[in-house]
Amino acid sequence: MPAAVGSHAPIWLFDLDNTLHDASKGIFGAIDGAMSHTVAAMLDVDADTADRLRKEYWKRYGATVIGMVRHHEIKASVFLERTHDFDVAALVHSENGLKRKLACLPGRKILLTNAPLDYAWRVLKALGIARHFECVWSIDHMALQGRLRPKPSAALMRQILAKIGAPAQQVVLVEDTLRNLRSARQVGMRTVHVFHAGTPFSAPYNGRSQYVDVRVTSVGQLLSGQGGHRIRRIMGHV
Ligand SMILES: [Mg+2]
Repeated sequence: MPAAVGSHAPIWLFDLDNTLHDASKGIFGAIDGAMSHTVAAMLDVDADTADRLRKEYWKRYGATVIGMVRHHEIKASVFLERTHDFDVAALVHSENGLKRKLACLPGRKILLTNAPLDYAWRVLKALGIARHFECVWSIDHMALQGRLRPKPSAALMRQILAKIGAPAQQVVLVEDTLRNLRSARQVGMRTVHVFHAGTPFSAPYNGRSQYVDVRVTSVGQLLSGQGGHRIRRIMGHV
């Protein structure tokens, strides 16, 4: 075992897309096409307008669906179902040995994704790693006081910490999106940046941010280093 397992073992919050699998290789293309088509159809606008609106909402709210709900009174569940309705198994790509690597990583694992619940489980199953996660926290669980609050909402991060019932320093967010890591740090979590060139607004691999404890380019790198050196560094023990 690379690090001690027990009540003080890390509690890992894993992002899904471009963290546990390479969504840029096929899945994002499928979602992208479905989003443009769905926004255009639901709002009855042309393709260019639909494209502009969804990019604007993604940038402003962290998820296109929030803009659709807030500005157009579209039902979130209907929008998400229509934009993620494709065969994920044919499109998933992940690093070699992901199953084994997750099994070797000590501590509880929770999936934290702005994607819909049904899609998240389908991807986990296609990757063969569903059993490693004790639960999935998806956009379906991110309504607070009647409003959708996905990552990077600090209110969401606090809600998750309360639910987990562990000190923030024991919880590690593993993510490709920097702004989500920044808000995790704001509430006291540890942070791992999984660099992915396909992630929008992704910073180059070199250089450190104050809110990033460790940078990796794969989940497997969490385990690298003798005796779980990297994990101890993440947990502030080195
Ligand atoms: Mg991601």
